[in-house]
Amino acid sequence: MTRKYRPQTTQIHHPYRAPAEFEAVPPGVFKASTVLFPSVAALRQREWRDKSAYTYGLHGTPTTFTLEARLADLEGGRHTVLAPSGLSALALVNLALLQPGDTVVLPDNAYGPSKDLARHWLQQWGVQHRLYDPMDLEDAQRALRGGATLMWVEAPGSVTMEFPDVPALVALGKAQGATVALDNTWGAGLAFAPFETGIDVSMHALTKFPSGGADVLMGSVVTRDDRLHDRLQQTHMRLGLGVGANDVEAILRGLPTMALRYAAQDRTARTLAQWMLDQPGVVQVLHPALAGSPGHAHWSALCDQAAGLFSVVFDASIPAAKVDAWIDQLQCFGIGYSWGGPMSLAVPYDLSTMRKQHPWGQGRVVRLAIGLEDVEDLQADLKQAWSCLV
Ligand SMILES: *Cc1c(COP(=O)(O)O)cnc(C)c1O
Repeated sequence: MTRKYRPQTTQIHHPYRAPAEFEAVPPGVFKASTVLFPSVAALRQREWRDKSAYTYGLHGTPTTFTLEARLADLEGGRHTVLAPSGLSALALVNLALLQPGDTVVLPDNAYGPSKDLARHWLQQWGVQHRLYDPMDLEDAQRALRGGATLMWVEAPGSVTMEFPDVPALVALGKAQGATVALDNTWGAGLAFAPFETGIDVSMHALTKFPSGGADVLMGSVVTRDDRLHDRLQQTHMRLGLGVGANDVEAILRGLPTMALRYAAQDRTARTLAQWMLDQPGVVQVLHPALAGSPGHAHWSALCDQAAGLFSVVFDASIPAAKVDAWIDQLQCFGIGYSWGGPMSLAVPYDLSTMRKQHPWGQGRVVRLAIGLEDVEDLQADLKQAWSCLV
């Protein structure tokens, strides 16, 4: 064979082209910064926002387009924007939809870093925020009065797990002309159909259930409305929020088993939450599917499933050090943040520093995220550690 180029150049400009069709179960993983155009005319013509073709790795590859389409379908939306973490997806929604002089309203039990962003960052850029009690529609109305551009809803709230009346909150926000965004990480597109509640934007930490592996950080923002999507896509481009193809591949690999994992974790969590209720020193178990948990009726009206996540409130007479010792004594539970992965996790929280109001008393709170271990092993583990507590 006569070569056109010297060996070094041939490794880059090789004439071989593999056959185009390759049918396998998983979609291909395409990695690119540069996307090649067949001609200068094609380069000039191609519009980065038109997803019928490719312009640059940051604006999409066959791999990211495939994940976007599957997530839009999962959540019942039309468009998806991907971001490198759940938190960056959340920030993207704020930065795309808010301007100086605007107000954003957030539930008091919102994901902590979301409140932090409003307090320390949005504030600095001239965006005001107001917190509302998600279990009190009059308080939500108060927060919205005087105008709000964006309203966040979370169902249930972080750590304290109160399940709000989502359709009623959405209706209040829309009546005031706000765009309503839901942090749908807990529901994951499985527990309820987010857009059926009337929301405009569904943000999702793919880090949790879609990944399922405790190994990837990613977030998504799904919309039905073309104009909202345009604004999100523009902001996404201006901020350069790219995601890595291997990370996208990991999420694509998680999606087919997500519903099965979600259901299994739900089943185990409910068994353990119910069992915890009867243990000495436990004042309350916060899990929206339990009858005594705040917002249980709203959960029942909207959902037929729950994420494998609950919090336990201990009696105020049990010192924090004992609760810490109980967590340290657990063998099947890792100590760490996040959820939706294979390993069960435990994290202690001090509600007095997290909430404006805390009707849970002064006792320590431990959030348990249930993994995919056998339920009997988890229950035996929780039990063997109890001697540290009481
Ligand atoms: C984890 C989480 C996020 C943030 O996701 P990261 O990928 O960890 O940045 C946002 N909202 C909720 C409710 C979460 O649980």
